[in-house]
Amino acid sequence: MTDGRLAVYACDPGQSRGRRFAEPPAPTRTEYQRDRDRIVHSTAFRRLVYKTQVFLNHEGDLFRTRLTHSLEVAQLGRSIARSLRLNEDLVEAICLAHDLGHTPFGHAGQDALNDCMREFGGFEHNLQSLRVVDCLEERYPAYDGINLSFETREGILKHCSLRNAQLLEQVEPGGVAQRFLLGQQPSLEAQLCNLADEIAYNAHDVDDGVRSGLITLEQLSDVPLFERYRQQALALYPHLAEPMQQRRLLHEAIRRMLSDQVYDVIAATSSALAEYAPAGVAAVRCLPVLVGFSAAMRAESMQLKQFLFRQLYRHPQVVRTTGLARQVVRDLFAAYHGDPAQLPPAQADRAQAGDAVQRTRTVTDFIAGMTDRFALREHERLTGQRLFD
Ligand code: MG
Repeated sequence: MTDGRLAVYACDPGQSRGRRFAEPPAPTRTEYQRDRDRIVHSTAFRRLVYKTQVFLNHEGDLFRTRLTHSLEVAQLGRSIARSLRLNEDLVEAICLAHDLGHTPFGHAGQDALNDCMREFGGFEHNLQSLRVVDCLEERYPAYDGINLSFETREGILKHCSLRNAQLLEQVEPGGVAQRFLLGQQPSLEAQLCNLADEIAYNAHDVDDGVRSGLITLEQLSDVPLFERYRQQALALYPHLAEPMQQRRLLHEAIRRMLSDQVYDVIAATSSALAEYAPAGVAAVRCLPVLVGFSAAMRAESMQLKQFLFRQLYRHPQVVRTTGLARQVVRDLFAAYHGDPAQLPPAQADRAQAGDAVQRTRTVTDFIAGMTDRFALREHERLTGQRLFD
């Protein structure tokens, strides 16, 4: 059954390339709605609430976590998808799953695991997200993973090194890694999730950065994208200039920035779609990336990103915390790798039964799945050290 509300270039669940293990259709839900529901019910999804986005989970209750970040990405993705007549359910599924493979402590954890795994193929969080839904979730009697559809899995594997794409292609010929070997694009829904991710984190990192006190509204006046909306808000609501109204001013500026970016993506993507007029999903794969900002918004978004990089992600306080977080992950890796008996019984058996690669991968999967606070507890148990207060 095809869905007449969808554009011809949208992914149609009736035309899905299917699941790795064939299943009968559900009576009331499309394949992508089922994918979304499986993601929401997964263990990895629940763990996102205790995983760092930028600020460590214990630094404050109001900062974004991987979970609230993923919900914001899904909200932005869905509203753009509906307007472009793309498949909203598929966008929601990919957005909710896009960070499932993230380690504790954000990028610091990922970098540390990548170093530990250097001789064994490294660690890539997009690949790990796919590993979570394909291999690591234990919810079905007959197979590992949650058996998602091809289109959702393809969207989850946002980036992949050539070497890992070749390895995946050997296991799954013509599968989700093939596009990296052919230099093709994923579906428009997957392209949209990448952009929704960027829009979400730029906006919420401004919010969290100001809330934390690490960046100020004065510093942000150097960022044209933000400053424009701050000035708009002040012109319409002069009382927001008062010191006690700064939080309201920040939120109004961010709200306007988000709306404008959403409308910009819709307009720029609509004109790209009109220009290329892809006849279907297959045609989309052979075209350039079509979901995007206008050139002007792309440049301004880049300026904001560079500002956040300089002033927030490289702030001495953040650098200090991420340095400690790296040490936690490195110490955990060394402890479990040196003595697999320290792992829970199932992982200990797997690590001890296999070769060096399986041992290393088992330790990595276990650490990658940890929440921030579980990682800290395990670190204290194994090393006797407490690195964070
Ligand atoms: Mg993300």
